[in-house]
Amino acid sequence: MCIRITAVDDQLPKIAIWDPNEVSILVSRGTHPHDLIRELHAILAIDLGAPDLPGAGLHCICGTPITLPDELAAVPAVTGPSSL
Ligand SMILES: [Zn+2]
Repeated sequence: MCIRITAVDDQLPKIAIWDPNEVSILVSRGTHPHDLIRELHAILAIDLGAPDLPGAGLHCICGTPITLPDELAAVPAVTGPSSL
């Protein structure tokens, strides 16, 4: 069974948490994709021993590429003042 990425609304003690019971990595909804990918990479490659392929994105333990759910991959809209 491949590792899944699951977004949750709960406050997590860390950006991402490995849940071995669900074979999934729980992440806080709204986390910036840049921080999220770095954290997921650390869990997958270091904690779980997944293939570490520089520049090739995230991979499951079996080597299957993992894609982020749309809700996590999308960068939140910038709400700052217009630069006009
Ligand atoms: Zn897999």
